[in-house]
Amino acid sequence: MVVFSLESVIESFEASTRDAGRVQIETLRRILEENSDAEYLQSLGLNGRTDPDSFKACVPLVTHPDLEPYIRRIADGDTSPVLTGKPISSISLSSGTTQGRPKLVPFNEELVKSTMQIYQTSYAFRNREFPIANGKALQFIYSSKQIMTRGGLTATTATTNVYRSEQFKRTMMDLQSQCCSPDEVIFGSDFHQSLYCHLLCGLIYSNEVQLVSSTFAHSIVHAFRTFEGVWKELCADIREGVLSSRITIPSMRAAVSELLKPDPELADSIYTKCTGLSNWYGVIPELWPNAKYVYGIMTGSMEPYLKKLRHYAGNLPLMSADYGSSEGWIGANVNPTLPPESATFAVLPDIGYFEFIPLEENGEQKLEQRPSTTSYAELEPVGLAEVEVGKEYEIVVTSFAGLYRYRLGDVVKVAGFYNSTPELKFVCRRSLLLTINIDKNTEKDLQLAVEEAAKLLAAEKLEVVDFSSHVDVSTEPGHYVIFWELNGDACEDVLSNCCDCLDRAFVDAGYISSRKVRSIGPLELRIVQRGTFQKILDHFLSLGAAVSQFKTPRCVGLSNSKVLQILNSNVMDSYFSAAYD
Ligand code: AMP
Repeated sequence: MVVFSLESVIESFEASTRDAGRVQIETLRRILEENSDAEYLQSLGLNGRTDPDSFKACVPLVTHPDLEPYIRRIADGDTSPVLTGKPISSISLSSGTTQGRPKLVPFNEELVKSTMQIYQTSYAFRNREFPIANGKALQFIYSSKQIMTRGGLTATTATTNVYRSEQFKRTMMDLQSQCCSPDEVIFGSDFHQSLYCHLLCGLIYSNEVQLVSSTFAHSIVHAFRTFEGVWKELCADIREGVLSSRITIPSMRAAVSELLKPDPELADSIYTKCTGLSNWYGVIPELWPNAKYVYGIMTGSMEPYLKKLRHYAGNLPLMSADYGSSEGWIGANVNPTLPPESATFAVLPDIGYFEFIPLEENGEQKLEQRPSTTSYAELEPVGLAEVEVGKEYEIVVTSFAGLYRYRLGDVVKVAGFYNSTPELKFVCRRSLLLTINIDKNTEKDLQLAVEEAAKLLAAEKLEVVDFSSHVDVSTEPGHYVIFWELNGDACEDVLSNCCDCLDRAFVDAGYISSRKVRSIGPLELRIVQRGTFQKILDHFLSLGAAVSQFKTPRCVGLSNSKVLQILNSNVMDSYFSAAYD
C-alpha cells in the first residue's frame, strides 16, 4: 500500500502553485507531447510545437458537438490515435440533466490519477482543520449502468468509472474514508435498494463513521428524506438481524446480511434517538456521534439543498467538495473552513491546461446565449496566470484525456489567489435558462428568485422540496412557468403571494421592461404533487444516469418532453402573478 503523507501532498500543491504560470506551460507541453500522434492534433498543423502561442494559433476553441464525431468513432471501435496518443479505453457519460441526454466524453487512467490527486489535496487541507480518526465514511454513492459501445468500450458515468478503479479503493483507504457499504451496494442495479442498504450499513457502523458524504449534496438530502420514511424498518432489521424483504437483489442481500447481526441494543438506541428529535433536526450527529463533518459538492445547482442539509447536519460543519466534471477536474477546496456559500476552488495547474474567456460584467457578453464556435466574436481567452480578481470567466479545458480548448460551459469568478493559482468561485452554467425575447435569466437568477419567494413559505413552516422551470410560448405572449414541489399544503393566499414575489424577483432589466409592456405574460407558479421530483430522478435513472451525478433539471425545454410531461401531469394548482397588473 502506498503510504500517503498529508505533508507531502500539501508540499507538492504548494510547489505547483508557487509559479502556476510556468507549471501550466509545462503541463501543456506534456499534454501535447504525449498526444502528438493524435489525428486531431496532427490535422491542425502544430508540427510538434507545444508552446501556448502556437497552441492557441492552431487549435480552435470547441464545444462538445465539435468533438462528437471523433468521440463517436472511438466509441465505435476505431483504435487509431484519434484524440489521444494512447487509445481510449472507456467512455464517460456526463449527467446530461440539462440537455436531457448524456454526452459521451473520453475517459482514461489520467482522469483516475487526477481524481485521486484532487481528493488527496482537498483531504490534506481538510484534515489539517478537521482531523478524522481511523474509521469509515457513510457515503451515498451509486454506480450507474454500464453499457458497451458498438466498438466494445464500456460507457458509464465518470463517477462509476472512478469507483470501479482499484486506485479509488486504495486512495479511500489512505484517506480513512472507506465506505461502510460493501461493493454490492454501491454497484447494485437498483438505486432504491442501494440507498436503503447504505443507511443500514451506516447504522451498523454508527460508532465508526467519521464523515457523511456523497458526490453532490442532493444525494445526502435525498437519503435523509428517505430515512424519515424507513427508519422504523431499519430498526426492525437491526433488532432481528434479518434484512428487509424489500432487498431482492441476491448479491446485495448476501453481502449486507453478512454484516447484519441481531442487535436489540443498537435498535433501541436508534429508536430512542429518532423519537427524541424535533422534525429530524440534527439527525446526522445524533445517530453518528463521531462524525466530524458532512462532505459533498454543495455549490452551484446544489445550493438550494443547503438549508435542508444544515437542518439534518445540526451542529456539524458542512464542507463543500471539489470542482470538476466528467471532462476533467479543475480545482480543489483548500479552504475547508469557509461555508459552502463562499467555497472556492484552487486550480491545480498540473492536471490540465486552463484558459479563461473574460465575460463582461453586466454586459451583453455575459448573458448572451452560448454562441456557436464558428461565429462568436468574443474577448480572447487569457491564461491561468492572467485572470483578475473579481472578474467572471467561462472556463476552457485542455486535458490529458483528449479534449483540447474545450469550452466547459461553466461561469466562474476569480475570488483570489492561492500562491499564484486562481481560487475560483462557481457562478453558474453559462447557457441561459429563461429567455423569451430580450430577457435573460440564468440558473442562478432562478435560484435567487425561488429563495426570495420561499421566504414567504417559511412563516407557514413549509419548504420547497425541489423546483424547475419552463418557458411557455404556446400562448401569446410567452411567459415563465415555475414548478414547485412543497413538503405540505399551503393556502391559496400564500401561494398567490409567492407567485407575485417570484415574478418581481427576476430583476433582469430585459425581463422587467418586457413584463411592463406585456411582451412577456404573467409568471405562472405550478404546484406539483409530492414525489414528482422523485419521478424525474427515476426517469433519469431509467435512462442510465447515476444518482451520484444527478442534478435536477432547472429548466425543462420542449426537447425534454418526458420530464415536461411528468411535471405537467402532476400539477395540482396553478397561480398567475399579478405583480405587474
Ligand atoms: P458532470 O459532467 O455530470 O460531471 O457535471 C459537471 C458539471 O457539474 C460541471 O460542469 C459543473 O457545472 C457542475 N459542477 C461540478 N462540480 C461543481 C462544484 N464544485 N460546484 C458547482 N458545480 C459543479
